[in-house]
Amino acid sequence: MSTDEILAAYAWSAGDCFRCAKSKVPTTRVGVLDVPAGEHVDIRACEECVLVMERERRRWAARRGCVYRPGTLGSP
Ligand SMILES: [Zn+2]
Repeated sequence: MSTDEILAAYAWSAGDCFRCAKSKVPTTRVGVLDVPAGEHVDIRACEECVLVMERERRRWAARRGCVYRPGTLGSP
């Protein structure tokens, strides 16, 4: 699985990364926070951080003998 294939599994738009705090970079939604006011706030991550998190997921899947599928960060 190449870097490009992993990144292609996500939809990207400019935003702020929750993980490394870069702003105005291409980001994708990796989660949603429900805040007390009843709003949903997107948790977004940049390409670099998504690749780090996907690598962790791939290792996790390999240890458990699960099938690794990229593109599911932030999915229920
Ligand atoms: Zn980042």
